[in-house]
Amino acid sequence: MIAMAIQDMGQRRGKRTERELTPEELERQALRKEEDRQKAISDWVPKTESGRMVKAGQIANMDDFFTRGYKVMEPQVVDALIPGIKEKLVHFTKTARITRQGRSFSFRASVLVGDGNSYVGVGIGSDRERIPSIEKATRAAKMALKRVKRGCGSWECRCKEPHSIPFEVEGNSSSVRVRLLPAPKGTGLVVGNHIKEVLSFAGVKDVWSKTKGSTATTLDFVSAAVDALAQTNKMRYSDDMERKLEARTR
Ligand SMILES: [Zn+2]
Repeated sequence: MIAMAIQDMGQRRGKRTERELTPEELERQALRKEEDRQKAISDWVPKTESGRMVKAGQIANMDDFFTRGYKVMEPQVVDALIPGIKEKLVHFTKTARITRQGRSFSFRASVLVGDGNSYVGVGIGSDRERIPSIEKATRAAKMALKRVKRGCGSWECRCKEPHSIPFEVEGNSSSVRVRLLPAPKGTGLVVGNHIKEVLSFAGVKDVWSKTKGSTATTLDFVSAAVDALAQTNKMRYSDDMERKLEARTR
């Protein structure tokens, strides 16, 4: 993950032109990542009841975990239940503070995580060192993991597949407001570049959006988009009610 994150950083800053990794290098990278994951899980001493159940293999997957009403209190829960989770550094800043000893620097990283299949989270981490700030942000993102209820709420489409969202949702972060609207199949992600990744990390393929907030940072847009997606769990009315309404308009 760290190697990948730094590569992203390089691309973001445009300082170095990174060459494409060869298939062998990619394979080695994936192997190393899987080894790190296995080690993180075997070294893990769960502090919560839900964590102990996950480590003992009593919880099958993330859906099972959330359905039981648990919250992610330990990042290893996510390591264990979502083996192929994707991680991406979305924002990185270096800040200077004047202290008695002179200037002291610290790094602030924001990391997005997602399984590409309805789970997404964003987290922030600060540290005096570069790598630990990214690691802290990744852990925070896993603990802030949200389940996204996908669906097709598009009047033009009306299929039953989870390619979009079930209804219109809105999310906030500081001054930013992101509104997401269901779109028919094939529309793609009609959203700003800042939040495209949030949607694809959550496994949403077609959506329209409206955003407000001009002086906002990338992180504000990302957080507002995650917040909007989390609102898909708040059903406005039940499926049963929806069927009745549908029957009435016929
Ligand atoms: Zn559809």
